Amino acid sequence: MTARVLIVDDIPTNVRLLEARLTAEYYDVVTATNGPQALEICNTSDVDIVLLDVMMPDMDGFEVCKRLKANPKTHHLPVLMVTALDQPSDRVRGLEVGADDFLTKPVDDMQLMARVKSLVRLKSLTDELRDRALTGQQIAIEDALRAMDQITTEGGSILIVDTDQRHAERIKGYLTPAHKVDILIQPADAVFQVTGSHYELALVSMALDDFDPLRVCSQIRTLEHTRTLPIILVADEADKPRVVRALDLGVNDFISRPVERNELAARVRTQIRRHRYGLELRQSVNNTMALAVTDDMTGLYNRRYFDRHLGVMLSKAQAQDRDMAVMLLDIDHFKAVNDGHGHDIGDAVLKEFSLRLKRNIRGVDLACRFGGEEFVVLMPDTDFRQAEAVAERVREAVAERGFEVGASRPLTVTVSVGVTLQESVDDTAETLIKRADVALYRAKREGRNRVVFDAA
Ligand code: GH3
Ligand code: MG
Ligand code: MG
Repeated sequence: MTARVLIVDDIPTNVRLLEARLTAEYYDVVTATNGPQALEICNTSDVDIVLLDVMMPDMDGFEVCKRLKANPKTHHLPVLMVTALDQPSDRVRGLEVGADDFLTKPVDDMQLMARVKSLVRLKSLTDELRDRALTGQQIAIEDALRAMDQITTEGGSILIVDTDQRHAERIKGYLTPAHKVDILIQPADAVFQVTGSHYELALVSMALDDFDPLRVCSQIRTLEHTRTLPIILVADEADKPRVVRALDLGVNDFISRPVERNELAARVRTQIRRHRYGLELRQSVNNTMALAVTDDMTGLYNRRYFDRHLGVMLSKAQAQDRDMAVMLLDIDHFKAVNDGHGHDIGDAVLKEFSLRLKRNIRGVDLACRFGGEEFVVLMPDTDFRQAEAVAERVREAVAERGFEVGASRPLTVTVSVGVTLQESVDDTAETLIKRADVALYRAKREGRNRVVFDAA
């Protein structure tokens, strides 16, 4: 998985060093030598990760990070802070300004690659969520963006697998009370422990007595239920070769002993966030499918969506004793348009009709293609007088001007409208539609191109 990495450092040698390493791994690299320049690049071009030096003159890395996280446009951009080895306080500040992870100078190659890879995964999930939201339906957009912003990284459910109880307790101490942590000192039971539970992260020690930590990881990866459970290894310097293998096997990240609490906090947060985004994404895919809500041709809501929402809106209106009107519309002699000018011209008429309909109702009104050349509009908080005005306005908007849809001359189109109001708690979706339909039928019988009300 390749990505575009922005390297920010005021010392050109550092920039070139990191650039060389990342380019060797086929990352696309952009560079900046000061904060304002970095902000400008993030704002105006596509960047996937920011590698940010803390110590820079004028605007330091904390300030850059803070501004990136405060800007809705760059808010979801992962920031990897490069701090000095002996400055744990830098990490605390980094966490406070929203840094996603840390690297220590001098930058170790394996650390660099593991961190970058981990954050690229996070970023690609975020992007997918956003893209899906943005290409989705209007209501799905709002839902997905809201859902994404509501995803927190607190209250994670974490399992520590370690045969060294004291060590496990110390790590648990670092993570609570922000998260809920269980300790497992029998690695052989790991599979039982994670099955049927709802862990969001496993922290597996590389130093397990008589047990291969990589086996624990591969077992977790194999189980259907825990396939996507993030795993962080807790490793010693000497474990390096095996950590490399583990990362290849799909372990998400590692942290070196002695474990530094802020670094741990950041890495745990990144993995939990990614896990929760992943769940949200799957959820939103399901929603998008369930919410195949619009009619392709006209862009209005479709019948299925309407049916679902009429019931909801009706109950709401009844519970709060508020007005609601339903307007059913049917284009007059539409068959003659098809017969006289062909199906394509017929389609164009339906589209133009939908446009005129939409322009003459309010944003809160729900306009749907009910089927064929029949349409329905649900109007909350609308009384008799207002409903009449809207229906009349729509009727006029259709009839007043010929439809220019590619026929040899503008076509005269008219519509008949039946309107009814929600009147009592006994009303149901069916009775409302039934009444509107009776009214519509009368409009047709009485000569078309007119609005008829049906009283209960
Ligand atoms: P009325 O005034 O009684 O409503 O007459 P009408 O001709 O509009 O009604 P009828 O129900 O007899 O005919 C509706 C026609 O609409 C028949 C159908 O082929 C056509 N129709 C339905 N859906 C579409 C569509 O998506 N595109 C096109 N071009 N025509 C459609
Ligand atoms: Mg018709
Ligand atoms: Mg019809």
